[in-house]
This record gives sequence, C-alpha cells and structure tokens, in this order.
Amino acid sequence: MGYNQKMFGLGSRRSIIREIFEYSKTRAKEIGAENVFDFSLGNPSVPAPAIVNDSIRELLDTQDSVLLHGYTSAQGDLGVRTAIAEHIKARFDVPITPNHIYMTCGAAASLSICLKALIEPEHGDECIVFAPFFTEYRVFIENAGGKLVVSMPEESSFAIDIADFEAKINEKTKAIILNSPNNPSGVVYSEETVKAVCEVLRRKSAEFGNPIYLIADEPYRELVYSDVQVPYLMNHYANTLVCYSYSKALSLPGERIGYIAVCPEMEDAANIYLAVCGAGRSLGYVCAPSLFQQVIAKCVDATVDIEIYRENRDLLYNNLTAYGYHCIKPDGAFYLFVKAPEPDAYAFYEKAKAHELLVVPCDDFGTPGYVRIAYCVDKARVLGALPAFKTLAQEYGFGQ
Ligand code: PLP
Repeated sequence: MGYNQKMFGLGSRRSIIREIFEYSKTRAKEIGAENVFDFSLGNPSVPAPAIVNDSIRELLDTQDSVLLHGYTSAQGDLGVRTAIAEHIKARFDVPITPNHIYMTCGAAASLSICLKALIEPEHGDECIVFAPFFTEYRVFIENAGGKLVVSMPEESSFAIDIADFEAKINEKTKAIILNSPNNPSGVVYSEETVKAVCEVLRRKSAEFGNPIYLIADEPYRELVYSDVQVPYLMNHYANTLVCYSYSKALSLPGERIGYIAVCPEMEDAANIYLAVCGAGRSLGYVCAPSLFQQVIAKCVDATVDIEIYRENRDLLYNNLTAYGYHCIKPDGAFYLFVKAPEPDAYAFYEKAKAHELLVVPCDDFGTPGYVRIAYCVDKARVLGALPAFKTLAQEYGFGQ
C-alpha cells in the first residue's frame, strides 16, 4: 500500500468525542436538537468579548488590506509578539521578550511544535503526561517520534501523585506536559503540587545530567471559578515552554490562534527558541493567521465572561452529587468529571444515551471508569438534562 498506514489509522479512526458528536447531529435530525443533551464537545458556548469583533472591524477599516492579509514573519508579527511579551511580563513578572514568543494556530500546533523541537527519536526520548490527559497528546508525542508515558493520579482528588510521577522518570525523559486547568477533570493543580513537580524535575535533571523540559498546556488558564490561583510555571521552573491558546480564553477556537512562550531564564533559551522556529518550519506551522494575530495584539488583556460556565458547573455539580453521582468539583475549564456508576464507562455511556444524554467515556484519557461532561452549552440544555440524569441514577439504584 503506497501510503502511510499510521496516518491512515489516525484518519480513519475517529476520536470517541467526534464519534459522539456525529451521532448527536444525526439524532438531532430524528428527534429535534432540543431533545438531545449533547455534552461531548469542548466548543465554547460563550461569545467572544465585544472587543474582538470591534478590533476586527477597526482593522478592516483602517489597515492596508494587502498587508493585513499578507504573510507575517514565520514566527509571527513583531508588534504582536511584543504586545504578548509585555502582557506576560506585566502579569507574571517574567523578563520575556518578543524573541521568546512564537505565534501558532492554537495549542494543538503549539504542542506539536514544542514536542518536535525537543524530542530526539534516535535517543528514544520519552514524554510524561498526567492522567487524565487530553487524548491528542498521544498523537502529538508519537508524531514527534517520542514515547508517551502516563503518570497516574491520586484517585480521590485527581491531583498529581508525586511518587508515581518520580517513578516514571528515567534518563530518556525529555519532557512532561502539565495541563491546568485540566481537560477532562477540571482540576487546577495547586502551587504546592507545582512546587513538588518542579523539585522532582530539578533533582532528576541533575541526576541524569540533562534538562527535563516542562511543557505547560494552558488553553484553559482564564477559565477559573473559585479564587484558586493557576501558578505560572515559568515562575517555578526555568526550563518551561508555555503553550497558550485563545480558543477558550477568547472563544475563538475556529480562528486557530495561540502562541508558544519560551522561558527567558531557561538554559540555552535562544537556541531552544531557534529549535521551536525550526520545528514550526518543518511542520509547516509558520505565519499564524495574520488578521487574528493583529486582533490578539488589541485584545491581549481581554477574556470571556465565564459566568455562564460557572452557572452550568454549579447546576450540574450540585444536582448530580445530590442524585448520588460521584463528581470531581471542577475549579476550572468547562468539564465535569464523573465516576461511572459501573466499572465500564462505555456501558454507562450507552445507558445514558438511551436517555439522550451524550457524555464521553474517558478510557482514552487514561482513566477508565470515568466520563466527561462538557458543560460549555446553553443553560437550557443543562436544565433539560437534569431529570434524565436523575432517572438514570434511579436506574442504578442510587437516586433519591
Ligand atoms: N490542550 C487541551 C488540554 C485541550 O483541551 C485542547 C482543545 O480542546 C487543546 C490543547 C487544543 O486547543 P486549540 O484549539 O488551541 O488547538
């Protein structure tokens, strides 16, 4: 067969989330969209802040059209990178410059570039991820020629199990990916956890004589509900690369815009940045969408209004817990992580589906026995779904 079988496999096997989403569309045609309670996809339901559309209009009205829609530098427009660097410097007190910022088509591209820049397949490099983890990490790591290694969490809280993490590190560990707030658990890793992770990284880097890089995957940084702080990892560990995205922070997932920030205090920061540029080039991820780079420069301090997510979170968490489900209370992102009432999350998924409730079994996230409810939906869908969740709980014999 004259084509790449691995790529064929990736293209022909849809992710479970996409599978459910497609089912949801078919089902909506059969029984009406209002009767399908689809909680599968992490597509923001809150509109982008007004400043985004105002900036687009202003740019279209005032800028030279050829320049506005033209190529920028491969790593992104200097003015845009300067605006982002200034924002990071002011907010997190990191001496970052535009020459540490690389503009990308969102966090997926940021992650793929960072992994490609760091991983040396001929050395058998490994990358540790913390379960539950975003399923695409496996694709990105393997595509960069690395091996994915999973560190299992403390099951009661889904915090990082530091002993398990330490046991997973060896001389081949090149990087770890930390995603906080977490998809799918909604957990925000505490400062104490972050400090413990960084202490292990420092000790193990010294022991093996090679830096272990920390890739911070931060598309959900701005979506935090309580007064918990999301530690900025560059403040804790110099060998950090931040993968940021405006997909959720500004509700712009379809516009494909984000960036990589290389910590200026990293050993060899200038060369790592060049490796990032090289990886971007090799993957064809150069010159992120030009119009949206300019929009971001005008909106660096803006974020979406998260009140709707907060209301949905509270409605779901409070009611599902009252019905008897075991849920992890999310401090961030827009996902509720629920223990399936039977060991097989797929069996639970099927039973929920019979009530038109579409939730995602989390086996591929490294945590069998759990499902994810994406509550970035209209409040009406949450309210409509609650009686079905209650009936389902009663079927399992633990409803009120
Ligand atoms: N990382 C995590 C944890 C995500 O949940 C997502 C998207 O849902 C991404 C990365 C990719 O985000 P983007 O749309 O910015 O590529």
